[in-house]
Amino acid sequence: MAEFSIKSVSTIRTLIQWCFFAWVVGIGIRFGIFVNAVESGAATSWVSRPPGVEGFLPIGALTSLKYWLLNGRIHPVHPAALVIFLAILLMSLLARKSFCSWLCPVGTLSEAAYTLGRKLFGRNFRIWSWLDITLRGVKYLLLLLFVKIILLDMSAEALAGFLDAPYWAISDVKMLHFFTRMSVGTMVVLAVLTFLSLLYRNFWCRYLCPYGALLGLISFTSPFKVRRDAVGCTGCQRCSAACPSSLAVHASRAVSSPECTGCLTCVAHCPERNVLAMQPCFRKRPVPVWLFPAVVVLTFSVGIGVGMVSGHWHSSLSYADYQQLIPLVPYLSH
Ligand code: SF4
Ligand code: SF4
Repeated sequence: MAEFSIKSVSTIRTLIQWCFFAWVVGIGIRFGIFVNAVESGAATSWVSRPPGVEGFLPIGALTSLKYWLLNGRIHPVHPAALVIFLAILLMSLLARKSFCSWLCPVGTLSEAAYTLGRKLFGRNFRIWSWLDITLRGVKYLLLLLFVKIILLDMSAEALAGFLDAPYWAISDVKMLHFFTRMSVGTMVVLAVLTFLSLLYRNFWCRYLCPYGALLGLISFTSPFKVRRDAVGCTGCQRCSAACPSSLAVHASRAVSSPECTGCLTCVAHCPERNVLAMQPCFRKRPVPVWLFPAVVVLTFSVGIGVGMVSGHWHSSLSYADYQQLIPLVPYLSH
């Protein structure tokens, strides 16, 4: 049987990223059609509401997580938000911050942006290291803020009040409007972020994304790490030059950084055989290169599948509920 090479894993990763991206766009379009039907006064929609749209509600998912932990039941309004959130947390527990480099649509766009930027400007730029370290702290501060406000400060009554309120019920519609009815301020911020993403690798993910910060911290538990065999290593530093997270792979026996997204780019750029590999801690001998991608895809799929079969996927809201709630959107936006 032909050997499954690390180069083919890189190609498969790109394929998975763009297939997932297309799937997410498809969900957005379907939800747009659904909302449009309600807004235009149609008696029904020819497409059902896609629960996957709740993947765009991570703050609500965090609230839902605490509600679940306190009450032992999943709030029925947007259960898929929690299911998707838990599936992604599980990915980080097992397979580093792999959601960022294998599935996240923002990560995919970031990667496309810096690849394009490299073509346009001949290279990607690097921020001074003192500023880079300072800026990397911003995403952890944002994460701390959400953890304090939601996980630490919100009482059981406040949680139920938030999740039972119309604001949470139509947060998916407000998220859709964020993209389809973009304000000038939002457009300017997105344009600035896009420009910075062309210049610097993964600008948003590296400095500003609190979701990525959380996944990075959880990834400390992952048994998988990029491990380097110091004996066979020639010190060429191609791995470090290729790493989108600018990690010093060539100087590490095992990459433990919370910034490692498990993209395997370093492994694909190592010219030496069996020197650099994504290896689980419980096995000393090399594992097949398909193992890590298989863990990534299976963990996400199983997580979502469990949510679906256990009846925690579809929202309790009906089309009629949306007919009542959507006219309230302008009054609940601020
Ligand atoms: S160390 Fe390797 S696997 Fe981790 S982010 Fe850098 S290139 Fe990707
Ligand atoms: S690319 Fe491979 S050989 Fe070169 S420094 Fe990195 S691990 Fe060592």
